[in-house]
Amino acid sequence: MNKTRVTVRCRDCSLATAHESLRDARVALNDHESTTGHRVDWTIESVDPGVSQAGADAGVCGRPECANEDSPLVDPAPPESDS
Ligand SMILES: [Zn+2]
Repeated sequence: MNKTRVTVRCRDCSLATAHESLRDARVALNDHESTTGHRVDWTIESVDPGVSQAGADAGVCGRPECANEDSPLVDPAPPESDS
């Protein structure tokens, strides 16, 4: 079993919480942002590499600099073919 651990940290106050699922982290993040108007980041501490990559590619923080240009999800390359 891969263990997921997501840390949510607020950039505008001292809020810092840890969650064992992306869903819980996102709920906490959205709840804090919606109630305080603060900007909240999250960090995936330990997770299946594929899920971590997908989370990063999703641009969850909403900042352009977070976009992963190397992501196959953003710019899928055609599979190489030998035939
Ligand atoms: Zn805050």
